[in-house]
Amino acid sequence: MDFTHTWLPCGGERHAYPGEKRADGKEVTTYCGLVVSVTTYGDPRMPERLWPECDTCREKAAECADRRERAVREMRRTLHAYGDRPPCRRGY
Ligand SMILES: [Zn+2]
Repeated sequence: MDFTHTWLPCGGERHAYPGEKRADGKEVTTYCGLVVSVTTYGDPRMPERLWPECDTCREKAAECADRRERAVREMRRTLHAYGDRPPCRRGY
């Protein structure tokens, strides 16, 4: 299960692939099934930053972000805090 995704520009649209950013030139499969070699967004003024998001990739990236948010919430909810009873004492 992926909790991170990375966007990359390709063919006039921005696509996303699961996981952390890979090295430039590495081939990745985007959420919508394209096999693309990784490129980094260059200059902040480069037009590809403004390319529209691919619909499939946007949906999958949003699901990925939701999964991460739920996981973080669950982790915080179950994290022991100072003053909690240690789990070994439960029931006493
Ligand atoms: Zn896509």
